[in-house]
Amino acid sequence: MEDSDVKKLLFADDEESIRLLYKEEFEEQGYEVVLAADGREALEKFTAHRPDLLVIDIKMPGMDGFEVLKKVREQSPHVPVILCTAYGEYQHDLNAWASDDYVVKSANLEGLTQKIKTLLERQPPGS
Ligand SMILES: [Mg+2]
Repeated sequence: MEDSDVKKLLFADDEESIRLLYKEEFEEQGYEVVLAADGREALEKFTAHRPDLLVIDIKMPGMDGFEVLKKVREQSPHVPVILCTAYGEYQHDLNAWASDDYVVKSANLEGLTQKIKTLLERQPPGS
């Protein structure tokens, strides 16, 4: 049976160590975690799993995070999306893009955790 109180998060990152870090940390926090290794897989899993929120790495081979965001927005204009970047990359581009927020990647996930909480609370119940 599905527990509708459990929020589902989709993380897309081409680095396996980062995916595993996300999985370990956010499952421990009580979320259901879906992982994708590139943009194409992220879109497939977005359609298949309907996550409550997405965290997308910008720099991925093939389809980058901006393109993933654009395609997600075409399907679901309101689902919260956080873009992730290494420090100093894309800061200019980020201003022009319609993500809900972005984080600079760090092994300390406290900032990301807080942003996820805030964005999920902003959603109306049942949406
Ligand atoms: Mg990357």
